[in-house]
Amino acid sequence: MKIGILALQGAFAEHRKKLEELKADSFEIRNKKDLYHDMEGIIFPGGESTTMGKLLKDLDMLEVLKSKIKEGLPVFGTCAGMILLAGSLEEASPHLGLMDITVKRNAYGRQLGSFYTEEEFKGLGRIPMTFIRSPYITKVGKEVTVLSEVEGHIVAAEEKNMLVTSYHPELTPSHEVHRYFIEKFCRK
Ligand code: GLN
Repeated sequence: MKIGILALQGAFAEHRKKLEELKADSFEIRNKKDLYHDMEGIIFPGGESTTMGKLLKDLDMLEVLKSKIKEGLPVFGTCAGMILLAGSLEEASPHLGLMDITVKRNAYGRQLGSFYTEEEFKGLGRIPMTFIRSPYITKVGKEVTVLSEVEGHIVAAEEKNMLVTSYHPELTPSHEVHRYFIEKFCRK
């Protein structure tokens, strides 16, 4: 089991730590050539989606990543990572556009948008959720399963090989969402 973590910017180290605690190997993806390593899944961390999208474009990684995910590579996007996967953004910036969701960036406001709560994740029960200037999903397509909602807003969902959360499971003590990704998506 080897998981690649997009490490251009943002909270990639925290995901590596989670995977290490779950005894899953990981490596950092910093350029196009790293995308050709063997991997059973890939994680897009939180950070700043406009910066990450621009770096992916400048490093010529957008198309390779897009085709790998379209071919079935399991992907888990947290926060900015979710924005990169969104099929539709309420405010355009370079992204992959693969998942049938519409996402609103900084949906809780730019300054005061950070908070902690505990809510249901479908099938896992209540889990801790840390939000940092997070987006939420305003629309989902027919093939998308909603996994978490907080105060009426969709904050976690999956579609085929893609899993996204508005919040940061890597910044909480829980391993549940990473375990879910590894077991349900990557171990096939
Ligand atoms: N606000 C950031 C963005 O729009 C996302 C924040 C995060 O990933 N913690 O890209």
